[in-house]
Amino acid sequence: MPAARSRRGADAIGQDAGMLRRHPLLDHAPPTPEAFAAVEVAAARILRTDDDVVLVQAEAALALEAVLLGLVRPGLRVLCLSSGTYGRWFANELRKLGAEVSLIEVSSREGVDAASVAEALERDPSIALVVLVHAESLSGNVNPAAEICRAVRAHGALCLVDAVASIGAHPLEVSKWGIDVCIAGPQKALAGSSGSSLVSVSDRAWQAMRDNPTAPRGSFLSLLDWKDQWIDAGRARIPGTPSIVEMLALEAACARVLDEGLDQVIARHERSALGCRAGVRALGLELWPRSEHVAANAVTVVAVPPSVDADALSQAASLHGLALVPGRGELEGKILRIDHMGAGASPEAVLAALIAFGEALRDSGLCVDIAGAVGVAGEALL
Ligand SMILES: *Cc1c(COP(=O)(O)O)cnc(C)c1O
Repeated sequence: MPAARSRRGADAIGQDAGMLRRHPLLDHAPPTPEAFAAVEVAAARILRTDDDVVLVQAEAALALEAVLLGLVRPGLRVLCLSSGTYGRWFANELRKLGAEVSLIEVSSREGVDAASVAEALERDPSIALVVLVHAESLSGNVNPAAEICRAVRAHGALCLVDAVASIGAHPLEVSKWGIDVCIAGPQKALAGSSGSSLVSVSDRAWQAMRDNPTAPRGSFLSLLDWKDQWIDAGRARIPGTPSIVEMLALEAACARVLDEGLDQVIARHERSALGCRAGVRALGLELWPRSEHVAANAVTVVAVPPSVDADALSQAASLHGLALVPGRGELEGKILRIDHMGAGASPEAVLAALIAFGEALRDSGLCVDIAGAVGVAGEALL
């Protein structure tokens, strides 16, 4: 890929210097308000919501910030659920904004128990907002979002879900589950580009933002500006300058998902994950998530055996054509991640990954049955 990119660069500078070249990413007209609104409709179908959907023209990290700035003010009582890096990030951001945070934290090998959420909410009726990360992409674990949302709904607090790593890989029902704010991104299981985000906002959540004196206004981070200037203004004129390429990419990614069928996309990720997990176990390794029902579907996170050096294994895998993602922070050296999201969620891709992983384990001195693992994975995949 880098070679191809630099070759294109050389062409642009060399042969075509000074000429206006055609390029598939350039010279597109900006989206019309109708086209922009149509992408919102597609996004709402993928989120399965009747609520407003804001298309944030920036990566999910910025959408998360915009949502928190809109909802959180000093002293707000928030219950933050954490089972990994993103959960901890939320707790930190919430505190930075002055919220009074109650934290339910479990290991990144587990999922948060819905009963513990119900208990915490019962103990403290003043909790106004519950924050949940559906799937943790770095540790490969998933939380029982449907049950947790049910508990939040029964209590009445606002329910915020980060579904960036789960959308398209796990069932997610924003309206049915009563999620007030759901943040999703096209760049993981939806196989899109990372420069835009989808944010659904319920009427209750809009009201909470309007009631929040610290919610930003006159800012790129203001969801309320967007509500006033676009949604409630009849979607007549797109505020600011639309991100042409990102909106084209989002439109294409949503269309491709809806063409395949959202249920089919989710099933493909479920099957790929099932096959990958079965294959990894058949290679004799343990998964980082402690059980199948807390394992995420877009990635498989493997516990690196104590006898194996994670960096060496990773290097060996890359020689066999497999990019393993290393653990960060406290998980450095302890885990390696196999991605199977988007186009990578296919039987061919998963089997190829397992073979490469098996070869790398052999290179690291382990005695593994690759053919056996492929057979076991194949049963789940095909
Ligand atoms: C990937 C991810 C994000 C943020 O995505 P960026 O690509 O960094 O914008 C947020 N939350 C979760 C759970 C993720 O997996």
